[in-house]
Amino acid sequence: MRPELRRPLVAGNWKLHKTLAETRALLAALLAKLPSDGGAEVVVAPVFTALTTAREAIGARSIGLAAQDCYEAAQGAFTGEVSVALLKDAGCTHVIVGHSERRELFGETDASVRRKAEAVLHAGLTPIVCVGETLAIREAGGTEAHVLSQLDAALEGLPSFEAARQKRLVVAYEPVWAIGTGRTATPADAQAVHAALRARLSARFGQPLSDAVRILYGGSVKADNAAALMAEPDVDGALVGGASLDADTFVAIAAAARP
Ligand code: PEP
Repeated sequence: MRPELRRPLVAGNWKLHKTLAETRALLAALLAKLPSDGGAEVVVAPVFTALTTAREAIGARSIGLAAQDCYEAAQGAFTGEVSVALLKDAGCTHVIVGHSERRELFGETDASVRRKAEAVLHAGLTPIVCVGETLAIREAGGTEAHVLSQLDAALEGLPSFEAARQKRLVVAYEPVWAIGTGRTATPADAQAVHAALRARLSARFGQPLSDAVRILYGGSVKADNAAALMAEPDVDGALVGGASLDADTFVAIAAAARP
């Protein structure tokens, strides 16, 4: 049984998709179809340029707004980067950090993920910290060691924050081989990794924290596999890529996460 304090969270990572007009249209469809209260917490992560448009479209509805990345410094000579303070100013409530596409394609390291997660917590927003193994690591039996080491590295600075802020943390387990491939971890495999992540959170930071932190599964979550994945006791929701671009599918996934 999932403790009541972990409200399920379903986040849609829109990646590099959607113009401003498409952002408005997708949000209008989501707002029309999502229940106005209860159920899972819902978050969307459009591209940077669509964040303020999304904020306006969301209005007073309780959908969270996430950036897909951030930079660790508050301001300065960092051409091309966007700080957490500016994301907050644009209306963001959450920031995805350490997505495997950022790690693989843009040289994101465990050290930079740590600095970004700290910057997000420092600003009072919610970091969604992604961890996950490649197929080669899984086939070599190294999944648990790999994701635990990513988690340890990302959270080195967590003790410097007060308990309430620490509990905002969200972890997303996203096996790299399952992202955008149509292959999904079985519910049992996902649960095993989530349980290991939660045990590590408990060992390092204590049970009040590990009981509160939500651990999402990501990797080809669809309307037809979401319920089984999120029925596992340590799977507290989903980080959804491709399937979040269609309102009906995303709403069906969010409905599958009802507490
Ligand atoms: C993601 O990008 O975080 C993701 C899980 O993508 P997809 O659902 O398309 O596999």
